[in-house]
This record gives sequence, C-alpha cells and structure tokens, in this order.
Amino acid sequence: MKFATLAIHAGQKPDSATGAIMTPIYQTSTFAQSEPTVHKGYDYSRAGNPTRTALEKNLAALEGAKYCAAFSSGMGAIDAVVKLLKSGDHVVAGNDLYGGTYRIFVKVFEQFGLSFDFIDMSNIENVKEALKSNTKMIWIETPTNPLLRIVDIESVTKLAKQIGALSVVDNTFATPYLQRPLALGADIVVHSATKYIGGHSDVILGAAITNDDAIAEKLYFIQKSSGAVPGPFDCFLALRGTKTLHLRMQRHCENATAVAEFLAAHPKVKHVNFPGFKTHPNYEIAKRQMSDFGGMVSFTLKNDDMSAAKKLTTLTKIFTLAESLGGVESLIEHPASMTHSSLPREVRLQSGLEDTLIRLSVGVEDADDLISDLKQAIESI
Ligand SMILES: *Cc1c(COP(=O)(O)O)cnc(C)c1O
Repeated sequence: MKFATLAIHAGQKPDSATGAIMTPIYQTSTFAQSEPTVHKGYDYSRAGNPTRTALEKNLAALEGAKYCAAFSSGMGAIDAVVKLLKSGDHVVAGNDLYGGTYRIFVKVFEQFGLSFDFIDMSNIENVKEALKSNTKMIWIETPTNPLLRIVDIESVTKLAKQIGALSVVDNTFATPYLQRPLALGADIVVHSATKYIGGHSDVILGAAITNDDAIAEKLYFIQKSSGAVPGPFDCFLALRGTKTLHLRMQRHCENATAVAEFLAAHPKVKHVNFPGFKTHPNYEIAKRQMSDFGGMVSFTLKNDDMSAAKKLTTLTKIFTLAESLGGVESLIEHPASMTHSSLPREVRLQSGLEDTLIRLSVGVEDADDLISDLKQAIESI
C-alpha cells in the first residue's frame, strides 16, 4: 500500500468490541488476567497499551519498518537510542543538530563515559576523519536545524556499516512522507512526533523505528525499563495527526517554497537557507533523497545587528513567536537566544549559526497572507 493509505489505515482497525472506527483511548494502567500471566496481550501499560500499539504500528509502516517504540517525547526516544551504547563508546554527530540532542549528549551521556564529536556532516570527508576505533554510532540529522544543510544519508550509513557502527537518522524535519532513511541504509530512525507527525502543536511524543530484530528487542527493553512511555491520550493525538500527514506536508512544502522565494528576492534580506534552491550547496543530494524540500526556512537580514533580527520576530502578526515547529500554524523564532541557546556561542558560530539568524516553520495557512505578513514585518524594521 502507498503512503496515504498507510497513514490512514496502518495499525488500525475498527474496535472489535464496539465497531468504533477510531482506535479507543485505552486509559488504563493495568489489565485483568484470567490466571497468573494469562492475559489478552497486555498486562501493564508501561510495557504495552493498545492505543500505543496502534500508533507504533502506524509509524513503523510509514517508515517502511517492522518495529517502532513510542516514547513520551522526542528526547525520550533519543535517550533510549543512546542507551544502546555502553561506557567507552564514541559517537560522531552533526554540528548543527537540535539543541536538546546536543545537550543530552554532552551534559548527560558524557557523565556515563560516552564521548561525542560534532562535525559538519554535509561533507563526507569530515565524517571519515572523525571516525575512531571505538566509534559505535553515527548520528545524522537532515535537513539540519536551523541551517537546513543536507547530509547524504546513503554515503554516511555506508561508512557506518564499514566500521560496524549503528547509524541513526533524526527524521523529524523531513518526516517519512519526504524521506525514508531506513531504505537509504540507516539502522534506526528517531522522531520528535511533537512536530509534523502530531502536526497540531498539541502533543509531546517521540518514536524510535527500526527493521532490525535485535535492535528492536533492546529498544523495547529500554522503553519498558526506563519508562519514558507516552500516555494513551497522547498516542491517540499522534495517531490522529498521522492521518493527514501527507496532506499537510504537501502544503507545508508549497508554502515554504513560496516564502523562501519571496525572502530571497527581498532587498533587505541577506541570505536564505532553503534546500529547494538550486543554489543550495546540497541541492542535488536533497533532490535525490527527499521527495520535496520541507516546511522550514531560515534567513538573515542585511542589517546584521542582532537586535534587528530579534525585533523582526515580534513584528509578524500571523507568524507567532514561539519555539517548536511542524504545526499547522506558522511560527517564527530566533535560534541563538531560543531553540539553540543550550549550545555555547563558540559552538554555534563554528557551525555557521549566526546571532542574526531567523527561523520560520511555515504552516499551512494561505501563502499570500504569510508573505504579506513577512513583508510588512521586514519593511517596518
Ligand atoms: C523537537 C526536536 C527534538 C526533541 O523532541 P521533543 O519531542 O521536544 O522531546 C529532537 N530532534 C529534533 C530535530 C527536534 O526538532
């Protein structure tokens, strides 16, 4: 079956007890057993819950995978995936990845004897140079956040395989509608389903997805043992989101393209980061590994005073000043002081994230309205 059909049907069938079309919210912590250990597939909701199972099957299907473990947040999923490693292991990761991912790597996992190197992965030579004898995981985020560089998933996962390291792709920005990392050789996909998958800015949820039996078994064990599981209502909301993921992504992509083109032509704008531009340094890879270019755009103004960038984020009327992304509504933010403030300034500047960068999550409103809103904000600076 194709994506749109899977999005609506995978993992879900009318409730056997009542015929309810929508998967019920099984708001229960425990399940009756007829004899000790004899039950209908569920014994305790940390280990498993039918609403969560429906979501896990649905997300696995969308990534073309056998297994999915859902978590209470994207960070919960990332935490579980890093726990596949052990003390002494080394991880190579991108240098403009999600701020929270950088923070858990450096502030939490370094304490447990893991080490990390952060590099510009859009150049494969950098990845080769960063590999060590104890490199056990390569962590890819593409498109990157907030600079929207593209990492060649196939080439990097090939390198990982050569040295026996696991390759992980954070597919939050692209979603499985635009990019399928497992088909390109990745071992594990992680998601912050809080973003496009949920799609309505009303739920925090994460997922780790794989085709590998042994990895899946370990992930389910960590999910149950560490316990960062999503509640049934949150699973229901995410499941509701996936039903329209394809429709929303089409409009996000169209609107982001229109907004990026408007910005690039505006005399007050210095530079626009958008992988759909032919002038983008990784355009060819983006075209090859993604079916469209996504809903995120970032840019700088010619006025390179940080206060001008910050001011702009307060002048839009449709774009709301807020962290996060991927919802139906358009958001604007200032990464250096907001989403990426957990990265030290030297690290930010080294990766090319300037203090003046503005990031947009382009929603599914009318593109003309979005453009007029940005125009009035930029022209009143
Ligand atoms: C938001 C985000 C995360 C973290 O997910 P939460 O659901 O907020 O815990 C991880 N990776 C990326 C790319 C994100 O945008």
